[in-house]
Amino acid sequence: MERTKMELLPNFKLHRPKDLSSALKLKSNEPHSRYLAGGTDLVVNIRRGIEQPKNLIDLTSIEEVQEIEETKSGLAIGSGVTLNRVRDSAVVKKLYPAVADAAKAIAGPTHQQYGTVGGNICLDTRCLFYNQSEWWRKSNDYCLKERGEICHVAPGGKRCFAAFSGDLSPALLVHGAKVEIFGKNGAQEMDLKNIYKNDGLDHLNLQEGEFVTRVILPKSTANQKSRYKKSRIRGSIDFPLAGTAVRISLDKKKTISELSIALTAVNPYPQIVSGLEELMGKKIGKVELNMVQEMVQKQAKPMRTTTVSPWYRRRVVGSISKKLLNELYSELRKAN
Ligand code: SF4
Repeated sequence: MERTKMELLPNFKLHRPKDLSSALKLKSNEPHSRYLAGGTDLVVNIRRGIEQPKNLIDLTSIEEVQEIEETKSGLAIGSGVTLNRVRDSAVVKKLYPAVADAAKAIAGPTHQQYGTVGGNICLDTRCLFYNQSEWWRKSNDYCLKERGEICHVAPGGKRCFAAFSGDLSPALLVHGAKVEIFGKNGAQEMDLKNIYKNDGLDHLNLQEGEFVTRVILPKSTANQKSRYKKSRIRGSIDFPLAGTAVRISLDKKKTISELSIALTAVNPYPQIVSGLEELMGKKIGKVELNMVQEMVQKQAKPMRTTTVSPWYRRRVVGSISKKLLNELYSELRKAN
């Protein structure tokens, strides 16, 4: 493809199905098709020639994916719900505060008006060598993720390390979210963590045609302290360089009864931090905070996929985690 002048959108056919089955049918009937939600990432990638779908299947006219509703088991958020609705939802803010924080931290207010829950959960992985214009990628011989034969981040390897950079997923993960997937076998539920793979080239564990229709947050983690924070270059708009969500609850003795931490932008998938069970039944002091910081830094594996060094991002994600844990723990101690 020669696109040497302005990056104009290429021609494609836009489909607007009104229900889930019609969307699925279109996906299997139309060659070179992609699902489209808010388009805040995909349309940019199409304009840059990174993706070249001939058909776009716009999911925003499907009513079934537009609601935030309290159910017997928790809170269901449709994948077509826009990020500003999640950000402003009184029920999300009250029951799952990290999720509202994360929605508020995504890009800027205009993007939040169009971007959707499903789009942010399924966001393509990002890399300095991939999210570039056509001429830039061409002059650098492309890369494994798109038309090339080499990874510029790790030239000796055959893997892609592009980072998953969605903000919502870590917040949803600390609250134990599940997702509902729609595909040729109908609707099925799975843990959110299971839709991700540690592979920057192909990071979603979804079968051909499948798409996310709802996120389900369980009652068991509602009303607990949780928060999300990220580091980015431009505070008003950017993707995270590193981000952390923390959820914590204390028992009557003011020791930890539940603790969950999840990270974004430091691996090809949003990562739940392991090993935190060591802290159950403990109070949080300097030693415990340093232990968490160290654990996070060890488990985060940022690569040279942004303008900021992996070393710095690893340090930052550890510091944010420590800071959030300290804040939430102190607030809980004061409140109890
Ligand atoms: Fe390309 Fe390597 Fe970056 Fe993946 S990590 S997008 S293969 S340069």
